[in-house]
Amino acid sequence: MEKQSIQSKKAEIKFREKLTRRQVNGEEVLGRRLDPKGIIDLLTKRMEKTYWQMVTLKKKGVTLSPYIEIGAERGQRALVMENDLNAPGFAVDISFHSLKSCDYYKKVFGKQENPFRICCDANFLPFKTNSIPFIFCYETLHHFPNHIPIVKEVYRVLSPGGNFFFDEEPFKQHLKFPLYKRHTCSVSYHSKKSIFRIIVDRIFLKIYCEEEDYGIVENNDIEINTWRKSLEKFQKKDVKLRSWVIIKIESDLFNPGKNPLFYIINYMLGGNVKGFCQKSGSLPTKKLSMSDVLICPSCLKLGKESDLLKSNHKYVCQSCGKQYPSKENVLFLLPYDEMRELYPSFPS
Ligand SMILES: [Zn+2]
Repeated sequence: MEKQSIQSKKAEIKFREKLTRRQVNGEEVLGRRLDPKGIIDLLTKRMEKTYWQMVTLKKKGVTLSPYIEIGAERGQRALVMENDLNAPGFAVDISFHSLKSCDYYKKVFGKQENPFRICCDANFLPFKTNSIPFIFCYETLHHFPNHIPIVKEVYRVLSPGGNFFFDEEPFKQHLKFPLYKRHTCSVSYHSKKSIFRIIVDRIFLKIYCEEEDYGIVENNDIEINTWRKSLEKFQKKDVKLRSWVIIKIESDLFNPGKNPLFYIINYMLGGNVKGFCQKSGSLPTKKLSMSDVLICPSCLKLGKESDLLKSNHKYVCQSCGKQYPSKENVLFLLPYDEMRELYPSFPS
């Protein structure tokens, strides 16, 4: 099973550091990306969408707190959880700079509370087994060469009866014969096209984006079967495949027979997958406190779960003695070997 390489983790960190410099500090880097104003408009839309999706889940009886948001980036969605839904939890990401920028966006959006921010690797979520009732992510799982180990980690950490929600992930388009390539930033990609051109591009054009130039994984060809395999362990599954052809074509990943024609169209055209999955069992009546659910990522990598004890601005492993520092309110919980590779200047 292909795991995310250290190079692509480094690429994520480097790219997001530059993106923060552009979108928070207004520096002249990554000139093709949205500027500070543009990104605020985009984040506003994302936050609204998250708010309404979470309200819907809450109405279904989902316990929203404590949550973990994986690939939380700037923390915009976690800010909605904390401030508009009264649901404290954890925003985790491998990019320290993205997580740090949450302070800036908190002010921009007039919010009061920050999420508990952790810089960690989704392959080794530093949380106890069966400890968290709700985990979610958006536009995250396709940044791994294979998302199966990530979903496995999610499943491990979820409480019995806990829920996993994800949205805005791609699945493979089979009716595709790439003959030419265009960058998503290129003018010809965005120029106005005739219907004929739209159809031809849809079938023969391979698009790629700036992240790939940096070495970030953009896995847009995830097979429908891989999605099914990654989620099959969950007891309840409501996972929808969606393609857009003037109208929305939607079918059910785990029940394709419900609408076989739409399922075939989805298979041919690719699109987005969105899911809501529940682990078997029922939620424990007693919740663990947020500081009691954290464990040592270095020990976890060796297959054991060791408690962390907070002392000043550090968390110390009660088994191996390793120390995990906080910097600007972001806690670093990466396995030590990765921490040295990914953030060589920190901790000293
Ligand atoms: Zn340890």
